[in-house]
Formats: sequence, structure tokens, C-alpha cells
Amino acid sequence: MRTLKYRIKPSFHALDIELTFMPSRIGPLALHLPIWRPGRYQVQHFAKNIATVTCADALVVKSDLSSWIVDVKDLKPITVTYRYHAEQPDAGGSWVDDSMVYINFVNCLLFPHRGENRACEVEVLLPPAGGYETSCALRTFGNKFRAKSYRELVDSPFLAAPQLHTHAWKTHGVKFYLQGLGPKTHFSDRLLKAYQKFVAYQLDYMGEFPVREYRFMLWICPKPFYHGVEHTKSTMMVMGPEDRDSYEDLIGLGSHELYHVWNVATIRPKALLPYDYTKAVIFDTGWIVEGITTYLGDWFLWASGVVNPDEYVNLLAGNLKLHFERDGASKQSLLESSIDLWLDGYGSALPGKRVSIYFKGALVALGLDLLIRRKFQHAKSLRDVMLLMQERYGQLKNGYTRQEFYALVEEVYEESLSEFWTRWVESSEPLQGEIAALLESVGLYFESEGILTISDLNRLEVFGIAQ
Ligand SMILES: [Zn+2]
Repeated sequence: MRTLKYRIKPSFHALDIELTFMPSRIGPLALHLPIWRPGRYQVQHFAKNIATVTCADALVVKSDLSSWIVDVKDLKPITVTYRYHAEQPDAGGSWVDDSMVYINFVNCLLFPHRGENRACEVEVLLPPAGGYETSCALRTFGNKFRAKSYRELVDSPFLAAPQLHTHAWKTHGVKFYLQGLGPKTHFSDRLLKAYQKFVAYQLDYMGEFPVREYRFMLWICPKPFYHGVEHTKSTMMVMGPEDRDSYEDLIGLGSHELYHVWNVATIRPKALLPYDYTKAVIFDTGWIVEGITTYLGDWFLWASGVVNPDEYVNLLAGNLKLHFERDGASKQSLLESSIDLWLDGYGSALPGKRVSIYFKGALVALGLDLLIRRKFQHAKSLRDVMLLMQERYGQLKNGYTRQEFYALVEEVYEESLSEFWTRWVESSEPLQGEIAALLESVGLYFESEGILTISDLNRLEVFGIAQ
């Protein structure tokens, strides 16, 4: 009876939740709600959406911003109940209205102190008349979902609606789903074919996939929106408005989120292994997580034939432009902005303060890829770095530090890169000259305004895949 059992009854903008579990001892027992969620490294205090927690058999007292103490009197199962206000319509929040239920369990499910590794069972009581279809990466038993731990549970968002559009396919022995709600036109065969291509390519590129089943979950919403959150066995993407063509955004976002299965869900910074949901976890490697994923996410679209070289060069130019125009003169280094994610990584920051770990991180990933390719005439590339990261840190479930990443890249490069790290990662020096020189080695001409042109298509082909 170690299992944490949750019953969730959704209603308009609300989740009525019951948690039943066997306490491990008599006396005061803390219950916590995560204060942040993996994927957004910022304190969010989801507890602001809970007014009060009660228990029929014991006193419950709020003890901290996101913690409550239950006074356990007997060693028998106890049940606590509370209402969570579910009105955050994005990929990392929870939202319930008359037509859908979307729950991020990390927002709303309490767990007993040090109970993150306990098995969990969740029952979501959907409206009986609705005939809802569900999408969730957890194992299903009737109308219940089971997770081997709270960690797995909160890494598995839940989506339900009267009708979900579903594409399913199998590649490399892995079952994939592209599933969600919104106008059917967004779930086109063209989109499915693009997903099948970059999925197969990424699995070939990394040689193995850490999970046996994976879901691309999608919510096409009425308002202008672009948001995705990565998980180990799924991703949730929210895109809007309904009347625009979402194809280009969805191929870019899907490819990015899939690569996170390796780069963060499996190959993870040491500070995040395991996740501590109760405090801000500072790490200086956010640029490795998001920068490499941003760079390779786009590159996979080209390498797998989803976009042509001209379209890829436009994507690359767009990322360079975003960095140089917005953050080119920012005062912080990439390392400082990685740490400051928790302060202002996602909202507004002081003008001229931060750099984006996504776009400057992608610039560093591009720089590394081109440096390695230039030295070894394309016989080695960033792929060798990521395969070694997977072998040393991913497969062994061993987190890496920034210094370990540096050392591993230098092992692939067969030479020190200390000057590169100082200039590109640890300082805020402008890098237009450096990146232009590297791009020229693969036939791309970069002007400081952010314009990128192909000067020699034949030479460009060796940078990627000859098509
Ligand atoms: Zn990302």
C-alpha cells in the first residue's frame, strides 16, 4: 500500500482532487506541491491555485508556500482533498472547459515528503455523457493510469476531449502517435509525412531511442499561440490561432521537442538529476540543453528532407538574426544567462541584460559543429559529441557538469577549446566575425545584419546531407 492514489474530478476551470495513501509513520507529515516544472526553470508556485487542503481524519495546516502538514494519528490510509483552479491554457499548465480537459500533474498533485519514488495510480473522472478520448503516455488500466513513480507521473501530461485526431505509426520498433484536438486540417497527411521523416532520421542519428512509445500531443487553440513542453515519453504542443497554417511551426517545434528525449530527458545536467521539485535548482548548462536542441532540431528538418537547403538556410538565418538583433550587445554571458533563467529567463529582463539560451546557445552549437567539421573534413561533427554524451551520461543515468561537457567536446575535437569557451560561452564579446568565418567554410555567406546567403550550393551540401 505504498501507492499514491489520486482521483481527479474535472469541472469548468477546476480539478477536485483526492489523494489517498498509507503514511509511513505517525506524527506530522509534510505534503508538497512542486514549485516549478521541468522544461521551465523558473519558480511558478502552482500552490497559488489551491485555497485549502483538508482531511476528514486529521488536521492539515499550511506550513510553507507550497507545503502542508498533516497530523497523522494512525497507521491507516488517509485521504486529503483539495480543489485546484485549472485555468492556465498553455502546454505547461492545466486547463478545463466544456470541450476539453488538459492536466499537467506536476501543477496539481501533492506528494508526501520524500515520496517522489512511490508508485502512483490516477483516476480521472471524465463527464460520463461526453464519451471522451484520452491521450497520455502512462500505462492504462480501464479508466486508471499507473506510473512507477511520482516522477514518471508528473512527466506525463493528460489530454482528453470528445474527439482527438490521431495518427499512429511504427519505426525502429517504436510506436509513435501524433494526437490532439482542434480543426482536422492541422492534422494533415503532409504534417504526418514530415514527422515520420524527422523521427526516423533522429532515431538513426542517435542510434537508439530511450523509450518504446512516444506521443506528440497537440492542442490547436483559438488564440495566437506557440508553446511546447518536452517530456520523456511525450511532448505537448499548443499552437494557434485555428485559422492559420500551423505546418511550419509544428515541424520545427516537433523536431525540437523530440530531440529533448535525448538532450535533457536522458542526457541531463547533474544539478537536475534527479529533479527536486521543491526548490529552485540553479545550473549553468541550460545553453547545452536548449541551444543544441534548437540548432539540431532545425538541422534535422534539412537532413531528413523535410525542408530544402534554401528553407534550412532561412531557418538558420532566422536564429542568427534573433540572436544578433535582440541580444548581440547584451551584457551577460551565456553562462550567466543560464543561471539567471530562474530570475528572468522567460519573461522580461532588464534591457541589454540577458542573452537567450535558445538562440545564442544554438549559435554555440553551430560554431562547435562547424569547428569540428572543418577540422575533420566532415568525418566528425556535433553528432560525435552527442553520441558520446549519450554513452557516458545518458545510458548511465549520470548527470554531466559544464566542465565535463567541455572535456568531452575537446576529446572529440582532439585539442583544447579553452579560448572558444571563454569567448563564446563565458563572455559577452560579439561573435559576428567568428561565425562568418566558420560559415564560409561550408559555403555560406553571413552579413552582420543577419542576412545569410548560399554562395556555393555544392559546398553547402557537404555541411549536411547531399540531396
Ligand atoms: Zn527546448
